[in-house]
Amino acid sequence: MRKISAGLVAAGLLLSLAACGQSANGVGDGAAKGDAKGGLVGIAMPTKSSERWINDGTNMVKEFQAKGYKTDLQYGDNVVENQVSQVENMITKGAKLLVIAAIDGSSLTNVLQKAADAHIPVISYDRLIRGTGNVDYYATFDNYKVGVLQGGYIADRLGLKDGKGPFNIELFAGSPDDNNATFFFNGAMSVLKPYLDAKKLVVQSGQTDFNQVATLRWDGGLAQSRMDNLLSKSYTSARIDAVLSPYDGISIGVLSSLKGVGYGTGRSLPVVTGQDAELASVKSIIAGEQTQTVYKDTRQLAKVAVQMGDALLTGGKPEVNDTSQYNNGVKTVPAQLLQPVSVDKDNYQKVLVDSGQYTADQLK
Ligand code: BGC
Repeated sequence: MRKISAGLVAAGLLLSLAACGQSANGVGDGAAKGDAKGGLVGIAMPTKSSERWINDGTNMVKEFQAKGYKTDLQYGDNVVENQVSQVENMITKGAKLLVIAAIDGSSLTNVLQKAADAHIPVISYDRLIRGTGNVDYYATFDNYKVGVLQGGYIADRLGLKDGKGPFNIELFAGSPDDNNATFFFNGAMSVLKPYLDAKKLVVQSGQTDFNQVATLRWDGGLAQSRMDNLLSKSYTSARIDAVLSPYDGISIGVLSSLKGVGYGTGRSLPVVTGQDAELASVKSIIAGEQTQTVYKDTRQLAKVAVQMGDALLTGGKPEVNDTSQYNNGVKTVPAQLLQPVSVDKDNYQKVLVDSGQYTADQLK
């Protein structure tokens, strides 16, 4: 290779780019060589502690294998170093594509440089990988809308649009190292802030900044202790009417704390939102405890990621519907956004059972 003149290399590069219709970011090299179809796909997921990631992983394995690819699915146990070394291993094993749901969105810069050096395209899955140009596409949901659905649900349930209030609310956000967490929070606050400004919603603890309300690694136990503190400091006489929770695991923690001081027995539980429609939360909604969740059909997300990956590896062009919202600090990553759906007691049957997400038996 080194003996070939620079001109020839450039011409060859242009030809191979033209042949596979890709930009000069390394994407498509495998396809140009014609050896990527059926190759190994590395799938790095954050944790098994939440059902959704287990389903995402198994769904992608099924879909990639149905298209003839081999897969290496790894879970990082929510430990950043585990995920980095898992991705390194995938590169060493000769992966042709990486699909990654990051634990910490900003910790993959070095390992993704190694991927780029080996011309391996990268799909950021659900969570945006930040701080590197070496991410090619992003498969996710409309994350801002998730927050709008959570905030909007609280506003509806409390009758804020009809002028009711004031009500007391406490806010929870997700992990500060997950780009999605700010999107969810900002989406929710776009609905709630006018009511906070008008004092129709009051945060008795005074904690309204993202950094004060964030929950590292989305840990339900941490959320439960924060809720314990909030209740004992700010709600000994006041009643809490709503809790903005960004994720079902956090909602379950918040609910245990609330039940611990008598909500749900002597007095009614506040409105509690959530996300992911995890089994425990759907059961809790049916039992009248958690009020709402946001369902994201991860079967569809897996399909999107697999289509993107297959297109990248066969010289095609992945479909995207957003090219402006997801700037990762280095580039705006072209994204395909799916739509989230708000779920409560009234529509869970239609959204979750009729769609085949859960059987009626599972929800008993
Ligand atoms: C995902 C959510 C999930 C959360 C915690 C976020 O990045 O988008 O669906 O609830 O992580 O796992």
